[in-house]
Amino acid sequence: MEKLVFRFNNKYKQISINDKKILGGKGANLSLMAKLGLPVPPGFTISTKVCEYFYNNNKKIPKKVLKESYKEIKIIENITKKKFGDLNNPLLVSVRSGSRVSMPGMMDTILNLGLNDKTVIALKNKTSNGRFAKDSYRRFIQMYSNVVLGIESYFFEDLIENYKLTKGVLQDTELEEDDWDGLIQNFKDIVKEKTKKIFPQDVNEQLRGAIGAVFLSWNSKRAKTYRKINYIPHHWGTAVNIQAMVFGNMGENCATGVAFTRNPSTGKKEIFGEYLINAQGEDVVAGTRTPQHITKKSKVGADSKKISLEESMPKIFNQLKKIFSQLEKKYRDMQDIEFTVENNNLWMLQTRSGKRTAKAAIKIAVDMVNEKLITNKEAILRIDPNILDTLLHPTLDEKAEKKVIATGLPASPGAASGKVTFSAEEAERLKEQMQDSILVRVETSPEDINGMHAAKGILTARGGMTSHAAVVARGMGKPCVSGSSEIKIDYTKKIFKAGEHQIKEGDIITIDGGSGKVMLGKVPTVKPDISGDFSKIMSWSDKFRKLKVRTNSETPADTKIARDFGAEGIGLCRTEHMFFDEKRIISVRQMILSKTLDDRKEALAKLLPYQKNDFVEIFKIMNGLPVTVRLLDPPLHEFLPKTDKDINDIAKELNLSQDDIKSRIIELHEQNPMLGHRGCRLGISFPEIYQMQCQAIFEALAECKKKKIKLVIPEIMIPLVSTAAEIQILRNLVDETAKKIQKQHSVKIKYYVGTMIELPRAAIRAKDIAKYADFFSFGTNDLTQTTFGISRDDSGKFLNDYVENKIFNKDPFVSIDERGVGELIKVATERGRLEKKSLKLGICGEHGGDPSSIEFCEKTKLNYVSCSPYRVPIARLSAAQAFLKKKK
Ligand code: PEP
Ligand code: MG
Repeated sequence: MEKLVFRFNNKYKQISINDKKILGGKGANLSLMAKLGLPVPPGFTISTKVCEYFYNNNKKIPKKVLKESYKEIKIIENITKKKFGDLNNPLLVSVRSGSRVSMPGMMDTILNLGLNDKTVIALKNKTSNGRFAKDSYRRFIQMYSNVVLGIESYFFEDLIENYKLTKGVLQDTELEEDDWDGLIQNFKDIVKEKTKKIFPQDVNEQLRGAIGAVFLSWNSKRAKTYRKINYIPHHWGTAVNIQAMVFGNMGENCATGVAFTRNPSTGKKEIFGEYLINAQGEDVVAGTRTPQHITKKSKVGADSKKISLEESMPKIFNQLKKIFSQLEKKYRDMQDIEFTVENNNLWMLQTRSGKRTAKAAIKIAVDMVNEKLITNKEAILRIDPNILDTLLHPTLDEKAEKKVIATGLPASPGAASGKVTFSAEEAERLKEQMQDSILVRVETSPEDINGMHAAKGILTARGGMTSHAAVVARGMGKPCVSGSSEIKIDYTKKIFKAGEHQIKEGDIITIDGGSGKVMLGKVPTVKPDISGDFSKIMSWSDKFRKLKVRTNSETPADTKIARDFGAEGIGLCRTEHMFFDEKRIISVRQMILSKTLDDRKEALAKLLPYQKNDFVEIFKIMNGLPVTVRLLDPPLHEFLPKTDKDINDIAKELNLSQDDIKSRIIELHEQNPMLGHRGCRLGISFPEIYQMQCQAIFEALAECKKKKIKLVIPEIMIPLVSTAAEIQILRNLVDETAKKIQKQHSVKIKYYVGTMIELPRAAIRAKDIAKYADFFSFGTNDLTQTTFGISRDDSGKFLNDYVENKIFNKDPFVSIDERGVGELIKVATERGRLEKKSLKLGICGEHGGDPSSIEFCEKTKLNYVSCSPYRVPIARLSAAQAFLKKKK
């Protein structure tokens, strides 16, 4: 029979598996730590499979699982010499979630389970600490009532706050046993009033309730959102970990803490973490008490007066240090650890691979290769390409004037500017309007996850470097300044004060998560530094990849950025983007609105020198690397004048009346411009447009030759082809123009002619089309649009519903739909190469910069991917990963 409950402890027989799929991350790691002989409180894990069963069977926990759980409780009793529900020496347990990958704070946890009106007295007697026992009981009632009974926490928190006010104290720690006694009674009254039942006194009933609630929390709104954002499949389910409680809040020889084996912000090899004496784990992350540093060095660095763990508990610190290096060696990765000290005894509660910033990820990977912990192949496979994005974007310009209004902790690096917003909803609303925002909160909680995702950066008044805001922001790669106690937030008035400054909702601020500074207004930024460890990872990637990486670029500025990032050519130069320039648009409009060939030629003649100069500039930067120039593609109406002023200007230029222009605009109107007069259809109707563009390309090359600039071999690309005849005609046009220019300038020019494959018919008829093409470039934006029949411009309105209803796993405009669009690419690749073995194949849709689509391109044996300049390093790394994964 399938095993569903797995034991872990370092005393009795161990479980034989170490599979995250079954035990979840937390369970698997606890079991491994126990096997290593580390001090782990005994416990057991209920498999993720039970979660699936739970949801398929009316949210019931299988009887067999409950039976085994009670048996496992007995084992814990034997080890701890305590008894569950006992009136002398009661065993208390924690019940925690744990899915395959960590979802910090998204699911529920219950601590101190096993306390009731009687066992709490036993706990008091056993520990001779009435205050501790009562505080533990009230925490348990609060958590259990919230998680299992569904009573909002603020009912309890308000009671505590009001009580403290009447007593005239500020901290919970100032409340005595009697105070908690009174509050416990009040808590139980709330439970009675809300549920019409008394708070459960039967410890087994408590256990059943908690297990069920953890399973239910897998499908809470925030957990679902987190999974959606992080592409975690909904069917994975969570495991449940039940473990003997250890207490960090029993007195001054107790403590609790979180630590990373390396610095998760910078990647530096140093213990990084926080702890609190006489506290439970939640106190460290909740931000209600300011945590202390683990090492003396970091304490001094942060100018903190509070004693570090290294000084307060040196023996424990040394033990921890040893465990850290043991765990790093075992996992060969930076670990994020939770521990508790109970009466001077160290207990390890958790270890997992730590979330880190992009900068840290790169430094740690390179350092671990140098330390011979991992190979450079492993280093490459470890880095999530998407996180590189945060490193590639500009940081604050040091020379720019800054008006610093507050400082906080540098919780997650990067700079961001945006409108101040005080709620997650408002941040989401602004994002919908394409506006940047900074989410400002006293502290964040898992409910804020959507808003944190929508905002450009996060600023909190409370919370340390391991607070919810800090951990989640680092995971998202978002700048975050946390614990800025200088800011005073008033949610009702929608303002915050920082010194003499008063900032309203909607005012613009800038935060710098690298220095912890908060600044007024928008501060200018500078280019990122991509040398050092970053360039090492890139050079390793280049060694292991087969796919070439090009860029989509048409301006000299973008082309330079892309070259700096390592682009090996231009895969798509959208010439129409060169037409939007203020100086040229009037001639472009003249060209479109002309009724006669002569008028059109006159306009094209004005455009020719601009185009030629653009190409000279780009060819210069590319210095001999391939450049794919796409001839004019978009529907012409995109260039038509829209405002009265524009209509007036063009009427004057063309010597026509405004009414003439308006009626021409009406004539050119299309019902469905994306499927209308665009792409090569323009070249067929108005060959003089493509002729002018080819002339510009060839003349630019002739000029480069004269100026002794290293010559590029242009790849002239015909867009939106669906038949062989179209490319046959247009290839002729290119060849004729080339002949003419070569003769005129007495130069020999090498060039290629190819097409985009962006229509299903083109993919299917690839064999015919390849007769006239030297290369194919898959335009997967249009190919996705035309394969699904979903407008790429309107899909945003309903794609979410498709993802929510699991029709799509991911937006097909972001990641290639392998089964449909991907099939067409495969078909076109096979048929095209059948006709012409030397056919060069690439991709230039947005998918060219998406890691999973790049993996597909590698499997399909394309020659290159082309993406926007800032995605070039991401594509280089992804291409190496794709190659290494294929070989595995
Ligand atoms: C495409 O369709 O994938 C493409 C690259 O062309 P555009 O986005 O310019 O239509
Ligand atoms: Mg296209």
